[in-house]
Amino acid sequence: MTTDAAESLDDAAFRRELADLLQNELPRDIAERNIQGFHQTREDVSRWQKILNKRGWGAVMWPTEFGGTGWPIRRQHEFEEACFLAGAPPQHFQNLRLVAPVVQTFGTEEQRQRFLPPMLTGDEFWAQGFSEPNAGSDLVSMRTAAVREGNAGYVINGQKLWTSDAHYCDWLILLAKTNFEGKPQRGISMFAVRLDAPGVTVRAVPGIDGAHSLNEVFLENVRVGVEDLIGEENAGWDYAKFLLAYERANTAEIPRLKRGVARIKKLAGRPRPGGQAALASEPSFPSRLAEIEIDLMALQATVWRTIDEEEGGEGSATTPSVLKIRGSELLQRINLLQAEALGEYALPFYPAPKYREGPLPGPDYAAGVMADLLYRRASTIFGGSNEIQRNLIARSVIGR
Ligand SMILES: Cc1cc2nc3c(=O)[nH]c(=O)nc-3n(C[C@H](O)[C@H](O)[C@H](O)COP(=O)(O)OP(=O)(O)OC[C@H]3O[C@@H](n4cnc5c(N)ncnc54)[C@H](O)[C@@H]3O)c2cc1C
Repeated sequence: MTTDAAESLDDAAFRRELADLLQNELPRDIAERNIQGFHQTREDVSRWQKILNKRGWGAVMWPTEFGGTGWPIRRQHEFEEACFLAGAPPQHFQNLRLVAPVVQTFGTEEQRQRFLPPMLTGDEFWAQGFSEPNAGSDLVSMRTAAVREGNAGYVINGQKLWTSDAHYCDWLILLAKTNFEGKPQRGISMFAVRLDAPGVTVRAVPGIDGAHSLNEVFLENVRVGVEDLIGEENAGWDYAKFLLAYERANTAEIPRLKRGVARIKKLAGRPRPGGQAALASEPSFPSRLAEIEIDLMALQATVWRTIDEEEGGEGSATTPSVLKIRGSELLQRINLLQAEALGEYALPFYPAPKYREGPLPGPDYAAGVMADLLYRRASTIFGGSNEIQRNLIARSVIGR
């Protein structure tokens, strides 16, 4: 048997097991909620994480030494896409893709033992505490400060903003200034902070989608131990850059885009309220849909090419920025076309209703479209705004 044949047999077994998992173990209620596109809940993400972990698939992107699968990147993508399209909630991004790589690379052995297993079992969740009221794109101008108090640890004071999911998370991965002198990049440190620690207050920031996913986090004389410092003091900026590269590399969101296109096709054939004909009957619709599909195919091809380059050890520094820009803009076009296909039926779902607690305010196929459209206006902002990504590309290409 050739190596290729052996590998494809492996692939066939993998696909059979994956299909079995999704058919028999993905809870239907979770899938129904997720397909509508509302924010996922801690309960759903935790339940799904536990199911995956039982199969040994709790963190397919981690190396085996930390309980991952060590799969090639292509298989990781195939796995994540199949799960998402079947309706599984995305696994917790901050846990598995942001904090874990930092802890695995820069954390102490004690921190790895302490933080990684509860991520695998879905028992602890992390929020990302980087942005502040006057420090978003210009993150180094943050004001939150951590002052060392001998061997006792650090005392932290400050405020974080836009902290996604902090209201249901256990930990905050926090950037704070530990030195206000010299180059700002060299005076930042990274900490693990319990969100239920004395002095931490989490307050909701209502989203344009009417949902609660965003927060501001106030830190008043919050004490952390020296064992909660990640890596070296004043080297936090290097770890943050490492983490942000992971964040951007995953923002093409191909599965979400594919599901979005499939939903446009389903919605476009339905008549709209007020006597408006179905979107599919408009002469311009086929070409508008085709443009989106072609752009999606081009983006998918770029993702595959990037994976091949990364596996060959030749990853480009600007590719994550390209993926971030193209993926986020395409997502917004897809969301708009979905809403257009619904016409006024999109409106009853604004703001996002507590749709699990009573009858739906409109036709069930319209649920989630408007809330998702509004939330994803932010996709060109979070993870480093698209303007900043364009600056990075320009600097790399023209050297300024
Ligand atoms: C939905 C959502 C979720 C988020 N989740 C988190 C989270 O979990 N944790 C976290 O830490 N942060 C989070 N953020 C914050 C996010 O990272 C910041 O909003 C983002 O970095 C932009 O910072 P800012 O909002 O301060 O805007 P600013 O930096 O003030 O930018 C305002 C505008 O100016 C433009 N701009 C700024 N500088 C330049 C420049 N040099 N050149 C050209 N244009 C420029 C920007 O592109 C933007 O259009 C989230 C934000 C949103 C909207």
